[in-house]
Amino acid sequence: MKTIKSLCRVAAALAFALAGASAVQAAATITIVNQNAPGEGFNDPTPATPVGGNTGTTLGQQRLIAFQHAANIWGRTLDSSVPIRIGAAFVPLACTANGAVLGSAGAYEIWTDFPNAPRANTWYPSALASKLAGTDLTAPADPHIIARFNSRLGLFPDCLPGSGFYLGLDRRFGNQIDLVTVLLHEMAHGLGFQTFTDDETGQLFFGIPSVWDFHLVDNRTNTPWVAMTDAQRAASAITWRGLSWDGPNVNAAVPRVLGPRSNLNIGGANAGGAAGNYYVGDASFGPPLGSRAVSGQLMPVVEQANGTGLACTPLGANNATAVRNNIALVDRGTCDFVTKARNVQAAGAIGMVVVDNVPGDVVGLSGNDPSITIPSVRITLADGNTIKASLQQRSRTKSGVTATLGLDRTRLAGTDERRRILMYTPSINAPGSSVSHYTTEAKPNQLMEPSINSDLLHVVKPPRDLTFPLLRDIGW
Ligand SMILES: [Zn+2]
Repeated sequence: MKTIKSLCRVAAALAFALAGASAVQAAATITIVNQNAPGEGFNDPTPATPVGGNTGTTLGQQRLIAFQHAANIWGRTLDSSVPIRIGAAFVPLACTANGAVLGSAGAYEIWTDFPNAPRANTWYPSALASKLAGTDLTAPADPHIIARFNSRLGLFPDCLPGSGFYLGLDRRFGNQIDLVTVLLHEMAHGLGFQTFTDDETGQLFFGIPSVWDFHLVDNRTNTPWVAMTDAQRAASAITWRGLSWDGPNVNAAVPRVLGPRSNLNIGGANAGGAAGNYYVGDASFGPPLGSRAVSGQLMPVVEQANGTGLACTPLGANNATAVRNNIALVDRGTCDFVTKARNVQAAGAIGMVVVDNVPGDVVGLSGNDPSITIPSVRITLADGNTIKASLQQRSRTKSGVTATLGLDRTRLAGTDERRRILMYTPSINAPGSSVSHYTTEAKPNQLMEPSINSDLLHVVKPPRDLTFPLLRDIGW
C-alpha cells in the first residue's frame, strides 16, 4: 500500500483568465473552468495514448476527461439547483524525489448570513451557501471552488520520478497515483470538507466560526470547537485522538462503514503493569489482522550494543531460538519494515511487533512483499518501553508475556468511545492537513484521510466511505 502526502490547503483567491468550460447534467451540475494558459496543463498538447477508459489523445485532454469523470461522481451525489464552477489548473507544486503535494483545493469564497442560511454568523463555502440560498451568490465570472494539481508529478527527476498520475478511469493505476481519487478528495475540500478557522492559532476567521466548528468536538469534554477559546481549539488540534466529528449523518453511517480496531493484547504471568490492549498501526504487507488471531510468547530481538534489535540482517542463533514459534519484538530503524519481517519470519517467528524509535503517534508499516505470511504491527515508543519493561525476566525461549495480534471487536477502527469518527490531529501541527481530514486509523481507509491510499475506490458515500455524510452534516 503506497501512501503519498497530499497537502490540502485552503486555496488563496487568485485571478485567472477563464478559458473554456464543459458541463454535465446531474443532481448537481459541476462545471470545470479551465484556468490553464494555452499549451499548459489542461491544454498540454503532448500526445497521449488512450488509457483505462480515458479516450483523450493529448495529455491535456486526458487530464480534463479525468477531471470531468470525478466531477460527475460528485454531481450524481450532490443535490443543488445552482451549478457549481471549479476553477482548475495543473501547475508546478512542491515536490521532491520522494514526496510531493499532489494537489490542493478549497472554497474560492466563503459566505455568512446569506438568504436561508441555516446558522447566523457562520461561514459557509460558496458552493454550499449558493445551494442553501437557492441562487448563485458568486459572480458568474468567479468559481465556487479553486483547485490546483501538480503538473510535474512523475515527469521530472525531482518530482516522484516514475510515479506520475494515472489518467485512466478504471483504478488500474499500478505504481502510479490515481488522479480520479485525488480529484474526488480535493473536490470534497472545496465543497466544504474544511474549516476556515486557523487550526494552529485557534483563531476564527474574522471572528466568525465555520459551520465545521459546530460538529468538531473535543471528545474528552464533548465541547464543540465553536464553544472553545482560541487556546482550547489550538490545543485540541494537536491532541492525538482528541477531536471527533459529531453529526447525525456521519454518526449513523460509522457502524456501516468502519470495521473493528486492530489490537495488540499483552497478557501472561510476567506481564505486570504492561497487561492490556494497545493501539497498533497495521502493515501493508502480510495477512491483515483478524484473518485469524495469532498468539504467542513475546520475545525481543537483541543484537545492538544499546540493547535494541533491528532485525535488518538474518538473525543470529540466540535471537533465532528466541523468536521461533513466538512473536518477535523488534525496533524500528536502519532498514525497511519488510526486511525486518522477512528476517524474523525466516527465523520461525509467527508474528512481529515493531517498536517505534522516536516518540510519536501510532503509524502503520509500509512496504510490500508477497512472501511475508506472518502478521506485523507497529506500536509507539512509549508503549514499546512499557512492554519491554515486562520482558526483563525471560529464558532463551519464554518471557512469560503473551502477545495476541487480532481485532478488538468492541471498538471500531478510528472512532472514540462513543463510536464517533476521529479527525486527523497529529501532536505536531501539520499545516493544511490537521483537523480538516479524517483520522489515519480508520479501516477501511477513507477518501478524506490526509494521504491517498491505494485501496480507495471511486466512492464517496456509505457503505464504503464517510465523505458525503459529513457534507450532509454541514448542509448539503
Ligand atoms: Zn486533503
